Amino acid sequence: AAPRQPGPPPKEPVKGIKSIIAVASGKGGVGKSTTAVNFALALKARGQKVAILDADIYGPSMPKLLGIEGKPAMRDDGIFTPHEAYGIKVMSIGSMLEGDQAVVWRGPMATSALRQLLRETDWGEIDTLVVDLPPGTGDVHISLVQTVPLTGAIVVSTPQDLALIDAKKAIDMFARTQVSILGIVENMSYFLCPSCGTRSDIFGTGGAADTAKSLGVPFLGGIPLHMDIRERSDAGTPIVATAPESDEAKAYIAVAELV
Ligand code: ADP
Repeated sequence: AAPRQPGPPPKEPVKGIKSIIAVASGKGGVGKSTTAVNFALALKARGQKVAILDADIYGPSMPKLLGIEGKPAMRDDGIFTPHEAYGIKVMSIGSMLEGDQAVVWRGPMATSALRQLLRETDWGEIDTLVVDLPPGTGDVHISLVQTVPLTGAIVVSTPQDLALIDAKKAIDMFARTQVSILGIVENMSYFLCPSCGTRSDIFGTGGAADTAKSLGVPFLGGIPLHMDIRERSDAGTPIVATAPESDEAKAYIAVAELV
């Protein structure tokens, strides 16, 4: 008999975690982290036990978004105890850096640091771990999809054509690595005026929905561009946790209902 070709190493589940959902974007600044945190809080509002792994090595934003400070505690056996905010467990690559230290890690360093955050943390029992990926398609993505069993990925894009072209590349990467696309979220979909509540479609309408349709992936809905989302993010008091009855929070909750 012909010798068997060695296949890729088996994907190892993470202890205590039932489902892992990655949040990705084709490029930076489209609101990926803001969406990831509010999506996670929306899952929590639906009764799930939720955790977040901030894997955005170039711009980790979970400490700021969730008002977390300092490094996570480490037990005597070297296992991390995650931070906790708004009932969600959080580990961020940002907590491992000193102040404004820039990330100049090479791929292997970043992936081994993330491996440690993921595998050497006492998560407890978790229904869904939301992973906030770096923008684009790089080493962290490849290592994650090869070593971790992902339930699927959500891709965040703004309505502009350029952002959508990059979103298509991210979707293509997941398709090639057999990760199912749970859907596209269109962030900054329309402008909601904070004083009069009027809706303006400043970037046009339907861009992400059309892209989703043409790629045969679900469209998970649009999130408005709204000052409250930005202000609450900056203050470490995310909107789904602190103003769950607002229309903006309901937009995130609607996304979580579709996933
Ligand atoms: P990314 O993770 O894609 O780099 P961020 O989530 O950090 O993007 O968002 C970039 C900036 O845009 C932040 O200042 C954030 O508060 C703001 N932002 C994101 N989504 C919205 C929104 N829907 N409405 C208003 N501001 C938003």
